[in-house]
Amino acid sequence: MTGYVAPTEPPTRGWDLHCHTVFSDGTKTPAQMIAEARERGLDGVAITDHDTTAGWADAQEAAHAQGMPLLRGTEITACDEDVSVHMLAYQYDPRSVHITRLFAATREARLHRTERMVARLAEDYPITWDSVMEQVREGGRTTVGRPHIADALVAAGVYANRSEAFADAVSADSKYYIPTPSPTTHEVVRAVSEAGGVVVIAHAGDMSRNPRLLSDAQIESLIDEGLDGLEVWHRGNPPEQRERLLAIANAHRLLVTGGSDWHGAGKPNLLGENLTDEDTVRRIVERGALPLWR
Ligand SMILES: [Zn+2]
Ligand SMILES: [Zn+2]
Repeated sequence: MTGYVAPTEPPTRGWDLHCHTVFSDGTKTPAQMIAEARERGLDGVAITDHDTTAGWADAQEAAHAQGMPLLRGTEITACDEDVSVHMLAYQYDPRSVHITRLFAATREARLHRTERMVARLAEDYPITWDSVMEQVREGGRTTVGRPHIADALVAAGVYANRSEAFADAVSADSKYYIPTPSPTTHEVVRAVSEAGGVVVIAHAGDMSRNPRLLSDAQIESLIDEGLDGLEVWHRGNPPEQRERLLAIANAHRLLVTGGSDWHGAGKPNLLGENLTDEDTVRRIVERGALPLWR
């Protein structure tokens, strides 16, 4: 990569490349995201909802109307041995068979996991697969999961509300719980690369998410397969982890990105609190399959 010099300090201006909207677990619409990015004087913003491209069309419309440049992205949940990993995929072709197959396989595995959880719960509680499916109101775009199981338990009169169900039978600590299946980091890197996208490991130094972090060797094993960068400027990465990630990025000429992980009112993270510099964004656009949206 000719002449790329990763910033060694958090950029003070640029783009926020990590934002969630109502299309995953954020509380604001894509149009509100664009408006807030403008208010805060950002150079541009990326939409990166979890495991979906469903918000892209709304974000494109708002970005165009409000004159705010947009990168299109997705935060994909993956696993690497026993580590749960989030990967930010940017500017890939959403119609690519490689990416549609990856998402379809994940949806299928998650549906099967929910069926198995319901079967376990049905041994002790008055719910069935049909009574869980009756709780799905979002239509085909949603993944049937624990919220719907909780709602079925509420409908059956077992709990007063969803939170009570999540605190008990539906909790990740209950004996009925089955972890959510995810593709491997290697599968994600390959699929995003084949779809012409740019793929970055999100908040790899955040120790609150896992009992252990990805090792240098685990990160390096993804570079040959097409890993493009590391998200260094993120509130979850403490200073010593930022140093470690920067060293890996510099040794392997990886892109260094930053983002707020904004969730609207869903988390304290402020839009634009961490940024990616203009040169890095330009390189993401050059590598990606999609044009910069404006
Ligand atoms: Zn994440
Ligand atoms: Zn996120």
